Amino acid sequence: MSARGKDFDAALDVASSRARAWLDGLDERIVRATVSADDVRAALGTELPDGPSDPADVVRLLADAAEPGLVATPSGRFFGFVIGGTLPAALAADWLVSAWDQNAALRAASPAGTAVDDIAAAWLLDVLGLPAQAGVGFVTGATMANFAGLAAARDAVLARAGWDVGARGLSGAPRVRVLAGAERHDSVDVALRYLGLGTPEFVAVDDQGRMRVDALAAALSSDADGPAVVCLQAGNVHSGGFDPFTEAVPIAHDAGAWVHVDGAFGLWAGASPHARGLVAGADAADSWATDAHKTLNVPYDSGIVVVRDPVAMRAALSYHGDYLITDATYLEPYERVPETSRRARSVPVWAALRSLGRSGLAALVDRLCRHAAAFASGARAIPGAEVLNDVVFTQVCLAFGDDDRTREVGRRLMADGTVWMTGSRWRGREVLRISVSNWSTDDTDVARGLDALARAVSHTAR
Ligand SMILES: *Cc1c(COP(=O)(O)O)cnc(C)c1O
Repeated sequence: MSARGKDFDAALDVASSRARAWLDGLDERIVRATVSADDVRAALGTELPDGPSDPADVVRLLADAAEPGLVATPSGRFFGFVIGGTLPAALAADWLVSAWDQNAALRAASPAGTAVDDIAAAWLLDVLGLPAQAGVGFVTGATMANFAGLAAARDAVLARAGWDVGARGLSGAPRVRVLAGAERHDSVDVALRYLGLGTPEFVAVDDQGRMRVDALAAALSSDADGPAVVCLQAGNVHSGGFDPFTEAVPIAHDAGAWVHVDGAFGLWAGASPHARGLVAGADAADSWATDAHKTLNVPYDSGIVVVRDPVAMRAALSYHGDYLITDATYLEPYERVPETSRRARSVPVWAALRSLGRSGLAALVDRLCRHAAAFASGARAIPGAEVLNDVVFTQVCLAFGDDDRTREVGRRLMADGTVWMTGSRWRGREVLRISVSNWSTDDTDVARGLDALARAVSHTAR
């Protein structure tokens, strides 16, 4: 082995064996962390050493100190927030991405990175049922995907109004109306804030958090002329509900608005013949944001922005500051994302899709939905439990009588540690939310989850 190879060998061996032990322990490990951040800080030591340390020792110290403070989010018993795990091929490919250390911004810096970007992008458009000519950018997550899609939206609607925002900025620009459902994800708000567009106008939603078409039509008819953007949602984080794209997109387009869809986890419904109806009509939008680190189960950070018009995408995001771009030909991968230098983020996406294949991806989506339905029917059999949403996708919202009791069930469940389900507020009530997003969750995990839930509920019985 070369001297260089030897430099890496011991440290990578430690990392590999500790990673394998962590993954192997997920089936039985308590889901929550067993120590606090303060404990981990103390175990790591807060003094920066004066001199160098052996790389393998550094990795060993990190693993020893960090492991008790890790949450088993990649476990099949993690149902909190909306968090996916990691498929084996995606994880292994991600290790290679770090080892290769490619700068995927530039074709010349990594022909392989660009090639994988191209293939993964085409596959994504195919499986998600989006226009084959659309531009695809690999970003850090759906927050940045929302930002990038809405940047293209802002620039395009202002350009149509005769305002070159790239050259002139927003001062003195025509006002851009932005409409979003009352239950949009907060990352849409933050993306709009970064873009100088302020807080959106909120459109009323129905009892599943889906935008009401009559409310959208009324809002758009009140001031029909100026530049406008409508933000729709595929997958409400509480109900899993989908906005009515088939009706909403044409209404927005008739009013001249750009339509952006936040489909961080829900856009993947399009990959399953059984779930596809949920996103019917979403393919008519102008831009889409989704995550690969949720439903597709690749490691963080992995979000995807898709823009129907690659020219608009390039004009808004390109590095050149050339706002007269009229050519859709991408010169470089960085012209599709807000970042310049970046890791070869498409590689784990490619590996996940390549390992699942079309039918494996559909089966993954179907499995998540099936487990969510099983949670709902199991919960209905627990005295005092109430399922608050129509379970159409991967999300289940539960309540247990009054808010105090729902909170108490959540506390007991977390203390128990068999599963993780996150407390939240929805439609004015405390809820316990179950999100089935991990590829590895199986029937046993669901049964263990329902048992833990029944125990927590019986201990709070009144
Ligand atoms: C998770 C999520 C986001 C934000 O995605 P990140 O990957 O955390 O940046 C946006 N919208 C929805 C609907 C989400 O579920």
